[in-house]
Amino acid sequence: MPQVEVESFQLDHTAVKAPYVRKITIEEGPLGDKITNFDLRLVQPNEEAIGMAGLHTIEHLLAGLLRTRLTGVIDCSPFGCQTGFHLITWGEQDNTEIAKALKGALTEIAQAVTWEDVPGTTIESCGNYKNHSLFSAKEWAKLILSRGISTDPFERKVI
Ligand SMILES: [Zn+2]
Repeated sequence: MPQVEVESFQLDHTAVKAPYVRKITIEEGPLGDKITNFDLRLVQPNEEAIGMAGLHTIEHLLAGLLRTRLTGVIDCSPFGCQTGFHLITWGEQDNTEIAKALKGALTEIAQAVTWEDVPGTTIESCGNYKNHSLFSAKEWAKLILSRGISTDPFERKVI
C-alpha cells in the first residue's frame, strides 16, 4: 500500500490535554482558495469516548450552532475515535474564535436546546435516526464546559 502522510496520525495523542481547539492546517487550492482545518477535541484520547448516540446528536446540533456563530463553515464531522470533530472552514481562521464559537454552541446544547431544536431526526433526514440522545449530548456538553476549552492542545489555555 502506498504510504501517505496524514497529519492527524502524526499527532502524539498521549501528549494532548483535551478539551481544546487545534488548528491543523491551512491549505491552498490550485486557484488560491484557502481552507482551514481544525481539531475540536472534546474529551481526552484513549481515556474517554463520547457514546455514539450523544456524539451523533452533538454533530447534528453543531451543524447549525457553529454556522450561526462562524462564517465559512464547510463541514464539522465526528472522529471515528469518538473524542471530537474535524471542522473545515473557508479562508484563514483563528482558533481562539473557533474555541469561542464551540463554547457558545456547547453552552446552548447544555442549557437551552430541546428535542424539537435537534435538526434531522427523522427517517428521511438522517442515516441512523434511531441513534440519537439529547440527554447524552447535554451531559457531555456540561462536562466539557466544566473542564474548559483550551486554545492550545498541549498547554491548558482555557478561554
Ligand atoms: Zn444523522
